[in-house]
Amino acid sequence: MTVVAADVVVCEVCGKKNRVPAAAPGIPKCGNCGAPLPWIADADDRTFAEVVDQAGLPVLVDLWAPWCGPCRMVSPVLEQLARRYAGKVKLVKVNVDEAPQVARRFAVQAVPTLLVTHRGHVIARQAGAAPEPALRQWLDNALAARASTSTPPPPP
Ligand SMILES: [Zn+2]
Repeated sequence: MTVVAADVVVCEVCGKKNRVPAAAPGIPKCGNCGAPLPWIADADDRTFAEVVDQAGLPVLVDLWAPWCGPCRMVSPVLEQLARRYAGKVKLVKVNVDEAPQVARRFAVQAVPTLLVTHRGHVIARQAGAAPEPALRQWLDNALAARASTSTPPPPP
């Protein structure tokens, strides 16, 4: 049973509006043209396991706080990356003020702290804001590292 709300996402390819739940098996695709949709969701202590740990694709976790200036600068960059990597990565924002258990689990010392996780494991971690090219490179490296460590698909 899902406890998290759905969000309306406009398809980058055909412009159709799609309802995308914060947690679902697989990858959200446009109901009209089949293109993968950007997946951006929020999570807190209550929903983190469902929205992040159980996701079938790598998750870029943005641990932020409302009082943090650099967080406000990095947030649109992350949303841009989520659109660019639609179908490859899910962006989940966690307000650490409202998610003390998540903050403790990842020993968050400063915000923003950015994580790439897959199936509950941290693949990459970045503390503090960074410009878009640096974040994109960091995310690329994290996704490449995951691809090289995961078991190859069985031969056809
Ligand atoms: Zn579409």
